[in-house]
Amino acid sequence: MNEIEAAADMIIRSKRLVVFTGAGMSTESGISDFRSPGGVWSRFDSSELTFQKFLASEEGREKYWEFSNSSWGEMAAAQPNPGHNAIAELDRLGRLDCVITQNIDGLHQRSGIPEEKVIELHGTAWWVNCLECGQRYPREQIQERLGAGIKVPRCDSCGGIMKPATISFGQAMPERETRQAEAKAAACDLFLVAGSSLVVYPAAQMPLIAKESGAKLIIINLTPTPHDPYADITIHGKTGPALPQIVERVKALS
Ligand SMILES: [Zn+2]
Repeated sequence: MNEIEAAADMIIRSKRLVVFTGAGMSTESGISDFRSPGGVWSRFDSSELTFQKFLASEEGREKYWEFSNSSWGEMAAAQPNPGHNAIAELDRLGRLDCVITQNIDGLHQRSGIPEEKVIELHGTAWWVNCLECGQRYPREQIQERLGAGIKVPRCDSCGGIMKPATISFGQAMPERETRQAEAKAAACDLFLVAGSSLVVYPAAQMPLIAKESGAKLIIINLTPTPHDPYADITIHGKTGPALPQIVERVKALS
């Protein structure tokens, strides 16, 4: 049995599958991450984009919004790739408990996975929050203001500072989502990592929580991860070809 067949076999035997996705899935949809050469990140200094700098001055907020505005185009245009669609197919087959994602692009929801089954650890770029009163605005609405020349948008209700609903460098992880994700990792019997190098907290911890609770672990990532030694199956490659192959096999055998 090769790795694809073994992974499909494990999914068929699983009663509670949690899929964990990272930047690798987004880059396959054309969204650059901070490692992508020539991407939007290369034109900005990430140390200028911390949450602290955003809060500290109007200049810091202007810089952040400039960055956020430049990265929005590729985010808004991105489509779910075959990897996303394969995970959505697992859901339609009744084989998915939930997706935990580090990605902020909303592509899992757009591939057809219900909102309540997607735990977004780093927030979402599709909403903008007022940091004072908590009002939420659809991103498109705020993009119109940026397009009209407003450099730092303010809340309509209270005039407060607004920020995309993503977790920035230096910003605390969302408590509710982190706790939910930890609980899901602890309760699953199969934890499948897709496109994450598992180096940043809390991503790094999730597979270990699952493993310590007795779950099997599958890791699909282009490059080796620090958790490969704990994995039952490791596939070094892109998720776009690997996940559909696995899901085809699941469908053929079930
Ligand atoms: Zn407000």
